[in-house]
Amino acid sequence: MTANISIPMAEPALEGNEIKYVTECIKTNWISSKGKYVEKFEEEFSKYVGMKYGIAVSNGTTALHLALSTLNIKQGDEVIIPDLTFAATANAVIYTGAKPVLVDVDEKTWCIDPVKIERAITKKTKAIIPVHLYGIPCDMEAIVKTAKKYKLFIIEDCAEAHGIHYHEKPVGSFSDISCFSFYGNKIITTGEGGMCLTNDQMLAKKMRTLRDHGMNKNKRYWHDVVGFNYRLTNIQAAIGVAQLERIDEFVKKRISLAAIYTHELGDVPLLVLPLNANKMNVYYWMYSIILTKQAKISRDGLIKILLEHGIESRPFFFPLHRMPPYFEEKGDEKYPHAVVLSEQGISLPSYTNLPLENIKMICYIIKKYI
Ligand SMILES: *Cc1c(COP(=O)(O)O)cnc(C)c1O
Repeated sequence: MTANISIPMAEPALEGNEIKYVTECIKTNWISSKGKYVEKFEEEFSKYVGMKYGIAVSNGTTALHLALSTLNIKQGDEVIIPDLTFAATANAVIYTGAKPVLVDVDEKTWCIDPVKIERAITKKTKAIIPVHLYGIPCDMEAIVKTAKKYKLFIIEDCAEAHGIHYHEKPVGSFSDISCFSFYGNKIITTGEGGMCLTNDQMLAKKMRTLRDHGMNKNKRYWHDVVGFNYRLTNIQAAIGVAQLERIDEFVKKRISLAAIYTHELGDVPLLVLPLNANKMNVYYWMYSIILTKQAKISRDGLIKILLEHGIESRPFFFPLHRMPPYFEEKGDEKYPHAVVLSEQGISLPSYTNLPLENIKMICYIIKKYI
């Protein structure tokens, strides 16, 4: 039995200039990947994150694959990724022929553990992909230090962390290439969409070529390399430009959301709140909590009860090592924090138009049953 959902997990906010700009694309016939909005979106988003070049692509997964391909990651190479992430992080590595090497996450940040990264480095390691999980920034200071020491590339997976800051600097500005997704449930959306950001002009140029079939920019239909068609359409970019006009407002709303969740749940002893929840002006992609083993109800039990009240919630991702394509026999021993978080973690409704009163109701139910 599925109850009627009155409070979903996520919902896009499209009340700005989205319709106007999309209509303009259709009326002027600029509906493919040529047209002014793609460049405008690239310029404005890269500026927002503080990076020089933006390369818009068809989704967050193609952004990761484009970044890896541009950095020549290939068969025989190893790329370090967290065990707890959305599968696309691992899949993009596998597309290149390289091997994703899993590393456990940190108990507090829920993100890749920098100490364990160093232990996983071999002669074959070429890159690290830190993932800012649920909008919590990774310990980039330690990761950058390790990458420098071993001469490794960093590709940040920022699919869940638009505008999130680490030490006063936006995430996505700590790496050789950073990758964003604009899927429907992300902090800003283009329906489907993604972007790679870099400060390196040569990498930007190579990404533009590979994104567009590997076609030579000065000699039409001449291909020096095998490329992809990973282009974003002008229609999608038009939505992105309209979303960016309101991103400060979205962030403000998410800060209020997080503050209410923290205020309501902060004194519940059986819960662990996300990192920095008690700090001012923090926000997340999805406000997520960990139920301790002492809680009266299981994580899945809580999801069920919330659903009976019309509230959608989400379990954390499965640890990659437990799923068939990435399976590791001794994974549970190697990645204990990923296992615990995966089994006890739950993400709560988080989106721009979520009425603040609803959060109090969600928290009331959690407190009652826990
Ligand atoms: C959403 C997401 C992606 C993939 O983005 P798509 O646009 O759906 O391809 C990659 N990594 C993480 C961590 C994500 O959350």
